Amino acid sequence: MRLRRPPRALSLTAAVLLTVSVAACGEGSGASAGRSGVGDRYFPKAGNEGYDVLHYALDLGYDPGAYYLTGTATITARATRDLSALNLDLEGLDVETVTVDGATARWGRAGQELTVRPRDALRRDAGFRVTVRYSGAPVTVTDPDGSEEGWLRTADGALALGEPAGSMAWFPGNHHPSDKATYGLAVTVPKGLRAVSNGEPAGEETKGDRTTYRWRVGEPMATYLATLAIGRYDIGRATTAGGLPVYTAVDPEQAEASRAVLARIPEVVAWAERTFGPYPFSSAGAIVDRPGDAGYALETQNRPVFPGAPGIGLLVHEIAHQWYGNSVTPRTWRDMWLNEAFATYAEWLWNEEHGRDTAQRTFDALYAGEYFPAAESNEALWSFPPAEPPDAAHISGVPVYWRGAMVLHRIRQTVGDTAFSALLRGWAQEHRHGTADTGDFTAYVEKSAPDEDFGAVWEDWLYGEGKPRRPRAGPWVRALGLGSGPGPCAGPARAGAPGLPGLRPAGGSDAGAGVRQTLTPKSWAMPTRPEA
Ligand SMILES: [Zn+2]
Repeated sequence: MRLRRPPRALSLTAAVLLTVSVAACGEGSGASAGRSGVGDRYFPKAGNEGYDVLHYALDLGYDPGAYYLTGTATITARATRDLSALNLDLEGLDVETVTVDGATARWGRAGQELTVRPRDALRRDAGFRVTVRYSGAPVTVTDPDGSEEGWLRTADGALALGEPAGSMAWFPGNHHPSDKATYGLAVTVPKGLRAVSNGEPAGEETKGDRTTYRWRVGEPMATYLATLAIGRYDIGRATTAGGLPVYTAVDPEQAEASRAVLARIPEVVAWAERTFGPYPFSSAGAIVDRPGDAGYALETQNRPVFPGAPGIGLLVHEIAHQWYGNSVTPRTWRDMWLNEAFATYAEWLWNEEHGRDTAQRTFDALYAGEYFPAAESNEALWSFPPAEPPDAAHISGVPVYWRGAMVLHRIRQTVGDTAFSALLRGWAQEHRHGTADTGDFTAYVEKSAPDEDFGAVWEDWLYGEGKPRRPRAGPWVRALGLGSGPGPCAGPARAGAPGLPGLRPAGGSDAGAGVRQTLTPKSWAMPTRPEA
């Protein structure tokens, strides 16, 4: 287990800065220091108030042998009020200089907060540019749930993952999902290694024994979805039938095991477009590192990261996140179920349309406590409501994924397949490239089906403590002949069950094959799914 760098003592500069900032509030200038944190109940220090980041330009250099990162982050932002000072989040690393609009700025650090005091106060609505030069050995961040993120050392390089708080380990920023921005990265590594990130490649150049790789992210991205993979990779390029570029980077050790599943990315994207609407970004792909390089897969934008070759179910899950999580991003970490419920339900839909279990059967098995091999995993489903995780250690808990997916299935039961299909697309379209919270979602559902009563779905399934009463089979369920009895559904999988309207059941080579998830999405005590 790696040790984290001990927290830094409050530097003299920071102490002076904080004093000055407080004094400035009473000086009648109207400008005051932007608060650290945006008020997220689960991560109070995450993000910062008083400005909106538009673009991150990151110029990085990394030497795996020396375990040393150098960086220049140029952050283009707009003040949302008059500011005498503002905070950025940065964990570890040494700050060398900070400028605001080219002028040297005073700065100080306390924990993850980098406080910047520009020479002149920033006026509300004014655009400004903060440039931070920094270097050092980047830290691995241990989450409240015990998983590791931030900067992860790999056999041949490094892997940066950021959900929920790890991206501050490699660049300063407004590290909260509520503030999305575009990105440009230039990453210089020893010749022979590659640097792979989000978005699209924008050139590479070798000078002497160093190669610089450029990446451009043109659609808004939350900082937790930024990734950087440095090492030796086999690169794959393809194009979907719809013309979307697919870029994959695979550790050579995983190349053979990954080949077949990664070849299905165009097929999965096409299926997801039929189900969820137009793909929200300019490229797709995947990064496959070795098992153990990370403890989980993550839906990093454009290009999910997998520690080892994924199964088809996990690939479907992470690609579905491009719509739900990456394009429609949770406004706070409490809204995490809006990511995971949809990605989990995407797997259920995929199975349903490929001759495996219907979503109804999966729902029934979960309700009966027979879905997971371990009894405690089945019981964990009812340990808290999906929209109200008890604390930061549980935002990736079992109810957030599977009970959240059960909430979506209850909505489908209430409105019927045609309206549910429209709702999946409509929700993705309504908040495309934006952020949304649980209240937005329930309001959207109610607006979409004004004649239906969702009271029990929200009160019992979304916000309620404990196990809800078994839902009575409505007309939708009776029509399919499913879910009618009080006992668990123990029959064989219903091959060829109807899919959502407008979707072609794909059948094909994998019909009937088990979809065992051998890798887990970002999780707390994530149970292994049973063989389908
Ligand atoms: Zn997920």
